[in-house]
Amino acid sequence: MEFKKEFLDKLRCADKIVFFTGAGISAESGISTFRGADGLWSKLKPEELANFDAFLRNPDMVWEWYQYRRKIINESQPNAGHKAIADMQSAFESVIVSTQNIDNLHRRAGSKTVYELHGNIERNYCLNCGKKFDSKDFSYTGKAPLCDCGGRIRPDIVWFGEFLPEDEFAASEKAAADCDIMFVVGTSAVVYPAAQIPLVARSAGAYVVEVNMEETDLSRRANYSILGKSGEILPIIANMASQIRNKEVK
Ligand SMILES: [Zn+2]
Repeated sequence: MEFKKEFLDKLRCADKIVFFTGAGISAESGISTFRGADGLWSKLKPEELANFDAFLRNPDMVWEWYQYRRKIINESQPNAGHKAIADMQSAFESVIVSTQNIDNLHRRAGSKTVYELHGNIERNYCLNCGKKFDSKDFSYTGKAPLCDCGGRIRPDIVWFGEFLPEDEFAASEKAAADCDIMFVVGTSAVVYPAAQIPLVARSAGAYVVEVNMEETDLSRRANYSILGKSGEILPIIANMASQIRNKEVK
């Protein structure tokens, strides 16, 4: 695979890099977006389950859906793309991940700084007292779990119609404004406000590299668009970074 010289020069000199990732990178681990998925939940759209009104109306059903998703996610593994991102931590001064994915795969791959714009399926909290629960903290009995205080526990996921977590978003914007290269991976980056992140990087002078299966709306705004599987492209980039920077990438 041949890369643009301009990109290689940036890769050689960069100190801080940011990966902004979306569903595409998880799809390569077999995690679907549950749109048009077959099986049990095929008749319901994610919008109909992943919203607060649905949860209040039918918490047991929403929990059952999340348990199903957790099972799929727990059985999935981070892929070569996730691992390459984590590996690059040893080649650059700073590698930050800002993700729209809720599957925890970046952390499982070893990435240390991960900002989760849409929450994390492994975390939950009580609607009443705010107490946090790890998904392993309670055994699921087919019913939506309750906190000791009697409040309902919900997944710590940003549902349709909800705001993104302010601190994670602010941290992502700051990282974007401060980085030398921003990689946008597996996302068309069209859903606002998250879509702002690559644009913040671009207007702050970062070199924006898109890694997607096909052209997106971002392609014409990125400095460089590399089309193909992130699980194939990112390991090559990690390798290249290691060579031209003369630093070992594990
Ligand atoms: Zn509580």
